Amino acid sequence: MIPRRLLLAALGTLGLGAAPALAQGAFPTRPISMVVPFAAGGPTDTVARLVAEAMSKDLGQTIVVENVGGAGGTLGASRVAQARPDGYQILMHHIGMGTTPSLYRRLSYDPVNGFETVGLVTEVPMTVVAKKGIAANNLAELVALMKKEGTGINLANAGIGAASHLCGLLLQTAMQTQVTTVPYRGTGPAITDLLGGTVDVMCDQTTNTTEQIKAGGIRAFAVTTRERLAALPDLPTANEAGLPGFEVSVWHGIYTPRGTPDAVNQRLSRALQAALRDERVIGRFAELGTTPVSQEMATPEAHRRYWQADIAKWRPIIQAAGQYAD
Ligand code: ASP
Repeated sequence: MIPRRLLLAALGTLGLGAAPALAQGAFPTRPISMVVPFAAGGPTDTVARLVAEAMSKDLGQTIVVENVGGAGGTLGASRVAQARPDGYQILMHHIGMGTTPSLYRRLSYDPVNGFETVGLVTEVPMTVVAKKGIAANNLAELVALMKKEGTGINLANAGIGAASHLCGLLLQTAMQTQVTTVPYRGTGPAITDLLGGTVDVMCDQTTNTTEQIKAGGIRAFAVTTRERLAALPDLPTANEAGLPGFEVSVWHGIYTPRGTPDAVNQRLSRALQAALRDERVIGRFAELGTTPVSQEMATPEAHRRYWQADIAKWRPIIQAAGQYAD
């Protein structure tokens, strides 16, 4: 007779045993780690902390946010791609998931097939901002200054693959100039340097810049959406301010490692949907110039479709820009 212990182990390997942690309705039974692939205090971190807190309420377990910044978000993404596929280590990432597959020639993980999707979270506009003392009063003057000074201008970003990198790249293309880029582990620390005046210009999400713009700590020149923002009604769009067609917005999504059971992804997705209905999340998002996605978009299926389309959208643009990382 086969000993019961061996039989259970064999059934477990085949996925037939009663694996307690993954049994229907049993997830989660302990705290979850949400990896943010950028430094604390930045826009991805802000979105993650708000959403994680609200998801925790629905799940009945704490979601602990862990900042694993560096290399344009690829260090944190790699951590989750290589984690156990059980839903206890998840990733909150942004548009970088759409651009990284084209930007990086070599990565320690598969940026397309290394993940399961949970749902989209929000789409955040970007703003073109600068240190307070910049010698420009509007976007046209900023363009002129950046063209004149060229590499004498320091443009902060969060590394290749970050939204600030992408936006900065598009900005330089639109302005037909090339400046010096200064990479950080996230735009949280970068904005501190912008406030201190040690870097000159940045392109960053409203979730990081709105409050600093309102407080007068930094100068804002344009928002990168088609319409002006309710949170910053006086700020012109890039279209209005003289850079026609310069539009970028930063979508966020939640991922689990490849092979995470569908039931776990669906449970996380339901918690995400509950978080996006949460009054505090909706209110804070509005103050920061962003709105949650619809409940339908906060599902694994809609997220995967959107992500795949975004990879296809950016590939030719990045190839044309010819900027790769190794
Ligand atoms: N806003 C950053 C970016 O450039 C990331 C961050 O710090 O959240 O992608």
